[in-house]
Amino acid sequence: KTELDVVIIGGGPIGIACGLEAKKNGLNYLILEKGPIVNSLFNYPSNMQFFSSSEKLEIDEIPFISKEAKPKRDEALEYYRRIVTSNKLNINLFEKVENVQKNKDLFTIVSEKGSYTSKHVIVATGFYDLPNLLNVPGEKLEKVVHYYDNPHYYSGQKVAVIGASNSAIDAALECWRKGAEVTLIIRGTEVGQRVKYWVRPDIINRIEEGSIKAFFNTTVKEIKKDSILLSTNKKDVVLANDFVLALTGYKPNFKFLEMLGVRTSNDEKKLPEYNPDTMETNVKGLYLAGVICGGMETHKWFIENSRIHAKMIIKNIVSNSILL
Ligand code: FAD
Repeated sequence: KTELDVVIIGGGPIGIACGLEAKKNGLNYLILEKGPIVNSLFNYPSNMQFFSSSEKLEIDEIPFISKEAKPKRDEALEYYRRIVTSNKLNINLFEKVENVQKNKDLFTIVSEKGSYTSKHVIVATGFYDLPNLLNVPGEKLEKVVHYYDNPHYYSGQKVAVIGASNSAIDAALECWRKGAEVTLIIRGTEVGQRVKYWVRPDIINRIEEGSIKAFFNTTVKEIKKDSILLSTNKKDVVLANDFVLALTGYKPNFKFLEMLGVRTSNDEKKLPEYNPDTMETNVKGLYLAGVICGGMETHKWFIENSRIHAKMIIKNIVSNSILL
């Protein structure tokens, strides 16, 4: 079996950028992706519009043309898929990496379909696989979801949307526009400050006119088949309810990082340890790329500021290889 120069775990925008850069530098590389190409984007809500304009989502300066300044999810799927297919990137899809071990200077990467040996590993697994759970009774009921797709499903239904950031606000507005009776449940005092600047006034106006009901300083205590129990700062409230969209954010797979031997900070940020000049972690030859770098600070990195990781890492791998 031949050994690879680099295995890239995750075929999101940044994993793909790493693959493209590896190819351009003549490295023997392989991307392993557990789902379809750009799996996270594929699982975003179907009508989702990016907060970034399309040129900020470009990798390797390949033009991203979209109808509006900020592209829709489907346009991003077209863009990243075409990068993979047109450049014939070496990517294995629907192949989840389960284990990585390092013996001397070589990594053994074990997936559900095979095993590979590589001199370097890039972890670009993002943060969209694990939702932040509410940890309340009833969360496992079928009517509770942590990923929202299409508003049609909720038309005519009593929908509670939990969260105050982009995912929650987009879902609340879409569902209300398709005829759902929407209640927003927000832990803090206001609609999130990072909500897309053109969406924030829309939701604030809908709340003020009473079309969408909002509870602030409120958490969910319990979810039952046809109701939910809220804890407000004054009293507990019972609401009739058909569906719960718990859109309270996502987090990286820390167990996976631990298995790789990557250290994280002891505070609530859980920042992974890496050299910001090279993106190499405390494990020599193992790099982090993309939004996984922020630990629990999932808003810190996005495509625009993490796409440079690809060139930084491959440059480091190439210069190390020359020194060998
Ligand atoms: P991801 O795109 O998450 O890619 C990680 C990939 O790794 C996934 O495809 C996953 O399937 C795969 N993977 C995970 N574990 C394994 C494993 N064990 N084996 C194999 N494969 C694995 N960013 C922006 O820049 N602009 C925006 O407008 C924007 N909007 C967003 C909207 C939403 C709703 C969300 C959730 C995020 C948004 N982001 C946006 C952030 C966005 O997630 C990232 O910028 C982008 O997806 C990061 O790319 P990535 O390659 O680092 O991670």
